[in-house]
Amino acid sequence: MLYNYYFEVAALISGLFLLCVYAIRRTLRTRSNILLLILLAVDCLGSLTDIISCFCISFPDRHSEAFNIFMCLSYLFLYNLMGILFLVYIDSKTKIKALYTPMRIYFLLITAFEFVLIFTSQWTRLVAYFDENDVYCHGPLMGLLYFLAAMHLIISVILFIIKRRRFNKYQVMAIVAFIIVVFLGVYIQLIQPELLVGQFGNTLVLFFIYTSLENPVYYTYRATTCFNRAAFREIIKMKRREKEKINLFIFKIKDYDVFRESLSNKEQMRLSSIIAEYISSLYRYNAFCIEDDKFAIQIKDAKAAEDIRLKLDKFLARSLILIESRVDVIVNSLVIMDIDLSDKADIIENGIIYALDHNLSENKQFDFLEVVDKLKRRRDISNIVRNAVEKDLFDVYYQPIRSVETGKFKSCEALIRLIDTEYGFISPEEFIPIAESEGLIVKIGEIVFKKVCKFMNEYMLTSKFGVEYVEINLSPIQLVEKDIVEKFKEIMNTYNVSPNWINLEITETANQSNEDVMISNIAEFHKLGMSFSLDDYGSGFASADYLFRYPVEIVKIDKSILWQAMDDVNAGIVLIGTLSLLKSLGKEIVVEGVETEEMVSLLQDNGVDFLQGYYYSKPLRPYEYIDFLRNNNL
Ligand code: C2E
Ligand code: CA
Ligand code: CA
Repeated sequence: MLYNYYFEVAALISGLFLLCVYAIRRTLRTRSNILLLILLAVDCLGSLTDIISCFCISFPDRHSEAFNIFMCLSYLFLYNLMGILFLVYIDSKTKIKALYTPMRIYFLLITAFEFVLIFTSQWTRLVAYFDENDVYCHGPLMGLLYFLAAMHLIISVILFIIKRRRFNKYQVMAIVAFIIVVFLGVYIQLIQPELLVGQFGNTLVLFFIYTSLENPVYYTYRATTCFNRAAFREIIKMKRREKEKINLFIFKIKDYDVFRESLSNKEQMRLSSIIAEYISSLYRYNAFCIEDDKFAIQIKDAKAAEDIRLKLDKFLARSLILIESRVDVIVNSLVIMDIDLSDKADIIENGIIYALDHNLSENKQFDFLEVVDKLKRRRDISNIVRNAVEKDLFDVYYQPIRSVETGKFKSCEALIRLIDTEYGFISPEEFIPIAESEGLIVKIGEIVFKKVCKFMNEYMLTSKFGVEYVEINLSPIQLVEKDIVEKFKEIMNTYNVSPNWINLEITETANQSNEDVMISNIAEFHKLGMSFSLDDYGSGFASADYLFRYPVEIVKIDKSILWQAMDDVNAGIVLIGTLSLLKSLGKEIVVEGVETEEMVSLLQDNGVDFLQGYYYSKPLRPYEYIDFLRNNNL
């Protein structure tokens, strides 16, 4: 039979080209990346041996018999090896732990088996051989090789389907394209056996893999040669697997916000790229751009850090020329030695970003472990809060508030409590901000509101115990919810709670983007008959201004203001002035954090209406609070 080997020549040329590009281009040498390099090399060898073996079969007399046999069997082996290696590759990409050892053993055994089977077949005549007339023949076990190849392909596809979530859209497309190419190749080979397209199909597949799964662009920062954050993550993962520690020199462009405001987008990118390009030219495989203004360089020792610092200083001593502007850049840097990689890559990354964002400006010694601990704690607490929302694990405590006029505790503040089996008591000061940033606060606010209404109804707080209203803390995020009024109305209806038994405590916020909704919600609540307190008065910055914009009945002076006033004469004068100002504006005043008799008399003498603090009582469990009221209000 005369073969058409043109496709194989094309496969060889494009395979070699791909191999060169890939070997030269700087990319991360991950396991899968090295595997692709091996696949490419085996593919090129396969194409070469295929072309040669075509000649051997067509013109058996031109070379020695041994050469003919060796070439044909080599091709057969390399072609089958591709199937095995491809499975190894997919296995390294999908990383199914349970398969780790069995797969390794299987790969070794199957490769050895195929090697022996193929290279002994001139004698055994099991797979392929040249007969007495120098005609190339297939043996009875040729089908077994086809079967194994098909099986490897099918297992690869199954592994891929199991872990398909790991891959992005383009990678999925590439793999689907690959499956189509393989089947098409087999089909063409069956109907037109003299047309050699197998190797060409393989090369095409490797090209798909190169451009989608192993594209160096995924690991480089913008159009530079510097590695990016994804590459950094891969390195951390790799080192982690090898149980190594790493040392990092990290730095950040100082006052980047100023550049962000004054430079065009293009120029900002240029700025980051210049620095990225510079560090990557010096520290080829160890330089990373983590964010536009943050960089990391993996170093050997402290001496290397000094070296980098000197070079950077020298580089940045001149102004950097962007497209239209010239800028002078200063960087803040930090050296972190012996980073323990037992933590997940994202914690390490976030730790670095946190380190750069918080401590770097002072350039002081930085405790990386502490940051990692903080971030871990934050993550744990976020999980605990999520779980508590789901399983209704929050409690509400009540802190009595004393009316100076009557001496009775005519109101109280509802305070949320969270107790975790592992962490114990977690302060709302810690978990409320986390809940706010993770979008859980609206749900939590509802839970608290419901519990308070239920409690008021159960014990008939107003009619039986003389509690005129309960103060409930409202996060600014809740107050910009469009349907909050409706929701609260419904809950009050369910528990027969009158709106004028509720006072909502609101705080000043820096974010005033939704002020319209806030003001309209407050108006709606007012219409129902609810009242408002302005909480933490004096601890923010726009306090007085806020008072004019939001119609509140009560102002709560922050405990820190009271405590400072007790220590410092000037702070005392400010407090007394504030109290008289609020009085003349016609506001009722609550002061919290009252702990001593001295505080009580100071506040009473200066016209404060309500006192709240440990002097009277800590926040109490519902039944303790009822006992407290029995003893003090009846
Ligand atoms: P806050 O609104 O300023 O609440 C007053 C805090 O001061 C409470 O802390 C209370 O226990 C504490 N306190 C009262 N009197 C004294 C005193 O004499 N001495 C001392 N050392 N502390 C006193 P807590 O319960 O830890 O709450 C902290 C913050 O968490 C609250 O500050 C509030 O901003 C927030 N929070 C609590 N419950 C909720 C809630 O249900 N929803 C929302 N959004 N925030 C809540
Ligand atoms: Ca409060
Ligand atoms: Ca406060």
